[in-house]
Amino acid sequence: MLIKRDFYINGRWVAPVTPNDLHVIDPSTEEPCAVISIGSAADTEAAVAAAKAAYPAWAATPPARRKELVAGILAQYEKRAEEMAQAIAMEMGAPIDFARSDQAPCLPWHLTNFLRAFDQIHWLKPLGDHAPGAMIALEPIGVVGLITPWNWPMNQIALKAIPAMLAGCTCVLKPSEESPLNAMLFAEFCHDAGIPAGVFNLVNGDGPGVGSTLSAHPDVEMISFTGSTRAGKAITKAAAESLKRVTLELGGKGANLLFADADDRAVLRSVKRMMENSGQSCNAPSRLLVERSVYDETVAKAAEIANAIAVAPAMQPGNHIGPVVNKRQWDQIQGYIQKGIAEGARLVAGGLGLPEGMNKGYFVRPTIFADVKPGMTIEREEIFGPVLSIIPFEDEAEAVRIANDTQYGLTNYVQTGSPERANRLSRQLRSGMVEMNGKPRGAGSPFGGVKSSGRAREGGIWGLEEFLEVKAISGYDSSIAAE
Ligand code: NAD
Repeated sequence: MLIKRDFYINGRWVAPVTPNDLHVIDPSTEEPCAVISIGSAADTEAAVAAAKAAYPAWAATPPARRKELVAGILAQYEKRAEEMAQAIAMEMGAPIDFARSDQAPCLPWHLTNFLRAFDQIHWLKPLGDHAPGAMIALEPIGVVGLITPWNWPMNQIALKAIPAMLAGCTCVLKPSEESPLNAMLFAEFCHDAGIPAGVFNLVNGDGPGVGSTLSAHPDVEMISFTGSTRAGKAITKAAAESLKRVTLELGGKGANLLFADADDRAVLRSVKRMMENSGQSCNAPSRLLVERSVYDETVAKAAEIANAIAVAPAMQPGNHIGPVVNKRQWDQIQGYIQKGIAEGARLVAGGLGLPEGMNKGYFVRPTIFADVKPGMTIEREEIFGPVLSIIPFEDEAEAVRIANDTQYGLTNYVQTGSPERANRLSRQLRSGMVEMNGKPRGAGSPFGGVKSSGRAREGGIWGLEEFLEVKAISGYDSSIAAE
């Protein structure tokens, strides 16, 4: 078992002020795989103080030098990518091949995209010819707190820590207590890349402890949060007293509109996308809306695809889905399956209990409900497990109505052979993102939602700007070289 009790504060690994052990459980085996510490208010204070002390020098470091230092994290990742994939597989159950191909590489992917976006930032530029001497400067916001979930752990850390440091902010990361190991590796990458002491700090802990201390801390200028809508609201309230900036990436209940003219692979793509990462993605297409004329055949095909999805322990190589992250999530998902049955949806694949032949681990059967009606619990609430709801619709207008009738608005999906319809729907669906016909989001595109799915955008230039303040200066003499 790994012993990882220390926190990374001011460029060093330091012991917690008050020992408070937490076992990290491998969801494939239900056995502890590591012991970490749950930080206290005193640990959080030390990390914020280190970030505050490091801020003036880091903010004053020329952007090109900051870029060079942050870019150095890439070389560290390349040396230790396998360790990163193993950590993620062990702590949150992503199948090892998927951790290697999708989860861990989020770090180099976002880093590369942010470096590209960084070159588009104008740190100081004239307002325009109409206003001589008026300049617009972009400046880092200050000390930032980063609070992340466990489901795509490296993805979310990279989407926050990289732009924060590039912008000139110093930060304190509190990763999810479910998945601290990848975050601690990231801290080692920062250290070995030569990021100056205090610029990046990490304190493990839980939401009510380290999370809420960070959210309320007067020296923290901003909280960048990804997680549940429930925690997002708590953080916003805690941050209100100090009026800090809060960016939120929250839950989702994506609709996937499948029309009769969709291509042959649309059903396969839709079911696979739902089940990927055992359904633990905020942007999972969890409501499959199907045009009535192809409804029965789509339900049959979807059930066949789900029945063929293998479920296996994370460390087993191959193309399968792993467990869900913990017992609490497993119980919650079982509760939703029970509710689906009780409320009259038709179970066509999977269902309650462990997959056949398994007696250990938090494994869930890839589950599909057909004849789901708008308003049923499984249609309304984010399940965060491999459970797909299929809903019929008569026409485009009804499909849009059902899709938009949700508190969430993160990603919606459209499967159609008609480019006119695709374009039309891309503007009618209320969400931060719309993905058509399986086309992936472009590198460096903004990620984020509307309504209860959050505020703000991560990724690309938008993600960098979240960590910057805009300053309007008048009477500036541009003939003098900037320092
Ligand atoms: P969670 O909200 O329980 O926890 C997320 C993080 O917040 C953890 O680090 C946790 O310790 C911390 N936290 C919890 N309560 C807190 C509080 N009161 N104050 C401060 N910090 C607190 O979420 P989770 O179960 O880890 O992750 C799953 C959720 O994350 C899902 O709802 C999912 O949709 C959402 N998510 C959203 C996005 C997105 O970009 N929109 C991406 C991934 C996950």
